[in-house]
Amino acid sequence: MNYNVAVIPGDGIGPEIVTEAKKVLDAVGKKYGHNFSYTEVLMGGASIDATGVPLTEEALLTCKKSDAVLLGAVGGNTNTSPWYKLPPNLRPEAGLLAIRKGLGLFANIRPAVLFPQLAAACPLRPDITEGGFDFVVMRELTGGLYFGERHTETVNGVRKAVDTLTYDENEIRRIAKWGFEIARKRNKRVCSVDKANVLDSSRLWRAVVKEVAAEYPDVELSDMLVDNCAMQLVRDPKQFDVILTENMFGDILSDEASMVTGSIGMLSSASLGEGKLGLYEPSHGSAPDIAGQNKANPIATILSAAMMLRYSFDLDEEADAIEAAIHAVLNDGFRTGDIMSEGLTQVGTKEMGDLIVERLA
Ligand code: NAD
Repeated sequence: MNYNVAVIPGDGIGPEIVTEAKKVLDAVGKKYGHNFSYTEVLMGGASIDATGVPLTEEALLTCKKSDAVLLGAVGGNTNTSPWYKLPPNLRPEAGLLAIRKGLGLFANIRPAVLFPQLAAACPLRPDITEGGFDFVVMRELTGGLYFGERHTETVNGVRKAVDTLTYDENEIRRIAKWGFEIARKRNKRVCSVDKANVLDSSRLWRAVVKEVAAEYPDVELSDMLVDNCAMQLVRDPKQFDVILTENMFGDILSDEASMVTGSIGMLSSASLGEGKLGLYEPSHGSAPDIAGQNKANPIATILSAAMMLRYSFDLDEEADAIEAAIHAVLNDGFRTGDIMSEGLTQVGTKEMGDLIVERLA
């Protein structure tokens, strides 16, 4: 089967890590009989330099017409790069907002995986994390408090600010469906996180998620209040499979979840919309401090490519093969600088990609 992938190398370490991800995809394609065709798309600083804007209509159209989009990272050094003298809507990161909006992406998935081989990087006690953990935070991306009406006013000489948190049932239903679909591909457990003891929007969230759950009798649903979830993530992260939550709670919980894994170069992410087209990218930025030095860890991007296979193309076995190859490389003691510890073998970006490819053969 042929899959058309729009590839956005972006800026900084983006081109280096995307090259390794493509190498791994090609190796998987060869092994399982698939062909991945890549169309390179400019975004971020690279697009500003070539076209004056961070994402052109034409670039967006190419992404819309593809089966999935794989992104490295965009942006430069925010203190020194001339891109940051431009107005905010013309800076590299504006490309990210434009592509998410243009592709109608409303669900963000951030896996939090503690590889047992990297347990030393985890700030939690070893007895809590023994054996590693593996869950995802699924966050609604286009509604809630961040997109509600807001204003600041002065009433009788007192300054007052108002933000509104709104969700309608359709917005909740469509992300809940993704939550259950993703759970079906994992350990079949959804924990829906809200603040239903206080907020009306959370009470509606909880009710609609329950309605959707009825369509997925094979998936177990539980509800948890957000304050409890924040505690449980550090007390017992192994209990979770899919955490499904609204925009602001997800923003905070996904950062907390990332932190407990401890390794920024290992964190993948996916953003999904109505159909199968998704945007897959590492959670980290463009790391301009190490760009072009063969130092970047490509694993987050390679894991994002594995998510692309699993969620956009339903190639679960192929995604499993990539993850197994990464485990094998880590078991064999190879590390990029960011995850290096004493007694192991330090390798560069390119070598890490080659080692993963070798284990896929
Ligand atoms: P960053 O994630 O780029 O880097 C933070 C630190 O982590 C740096 O020391 C960097 O060297 C290190 N690091 C990040 N990824 C790594 C990897 N794969 N391997 C090894 N080390 C890695 O965050 P920042 O420095 O705050 O931002 C740099 C630029 O990236 C900014 O322009 C920012 O706006 C942009 N950014 C882009 C995205 C995106 O494209 N989605 C996300 C976050 C930040």
